[in-house]
Amino acid sequence: MKPMRVFITGASSGIGKGIAQHLAPDHEVIISDCSAAAIKQAQQDLKRQGCHVEAQVFDVCDATDLAQLRKMADENRIDVLINNAGIQYVKPLEEFPPEKWQQLINVMLVGPAMTTRAVLPAMKANNFGRIINIGSVHSLVASAYKSAYVAAKHGLLGLAKTVALEVAAANITINTLCPGYVDTDMVRDQIKQQAEAHQIPESTVINDIMLKSMPKKEFIEISELAGTVAFLMGPYAKNITAQAITLDGGWTAR
Ligand code: NAD
Repeated sequence: MKPMRVFITGASSGIGKGIAQHLAPDHEVIISDCSAAAIKQAQQDLKRQGCHVEAQVFDVCDATDLAQLRKMADENRIDVLINNAGIQYVKPLEEFPPEKWQQLINVMLVGPAMTTRAVLPAMKANNFGRIINIGSVHSLVASAYKSAYVAAKHGLLGLAKTVALEVAAANITINTLCPGYVDTDMVRDQIKQQAEAHQIPESTVINDIMLKSMPKKEFIEISELAGTVAFLMGPYAKNITAQAITLDGGWTAR
């Protein structure tokens, strides 16, 4: 595969940072995140591991940052956009603060739509583009108390199907990875919160709540997502578009 320029959102930690680490040896990777301190730290961490990446402060909800992304794509080419930034908030709908609900939708649905909007003109001009959304098993099924997250992640599939139709003639594909639980800071926070809320040990949250949904009884590894991203960037995936690609240890088989 020829080296590509890859822009990843929300890449100062977890899945985004891990995908950057995986791709950096073969591609030009730009990691971005809304936290300036965190993205600089991530760049340094990756450098220590021998991975050289560009780093950019970028908030997927900020109009100025989005205009900057459009400019960057127009001037410097972006072959691959990975819409990864995400946040979680867990509450029954009637207790869910409206501004939190809106924020989750903004970060995980409006954000990816706007980043995609920003890179499409240049991708069309280059007659090449690969857009990969990091969705979730919650793009396909629900869990109680995650209404905003589930709605945003389901919405990503509709966004991808629509954009896929609009750009198919320009050799641009857009797909959504749908992982079950991945062992990241986001999930570790949820484990801690649930253990405190239910007054149970963290191991009980992991085994009896989280992995209960996953018949293979193991968290998805970031390397599995990174390998799938690399596959979607490659030549054998050129006709795979508008798809939900599920890595869930059997969760959605039931
Ligand atoms: P994470 O918290 O480690 O990473 C999310 C990153 O997004 C953070 O670095 C955060 O600073 C950044 N971010 C938040 N708001 C932003 C904004 N407005 N603009 C730019 N960046 C912003 O979590 P993660 O587990 O690595 O999650 C990455 C993606 O994977 C998310 O979309 C998440 O929904 C999805 N996902 C995670 C899991 C899991 O189990 N960890 C499972 C399925 C899907």
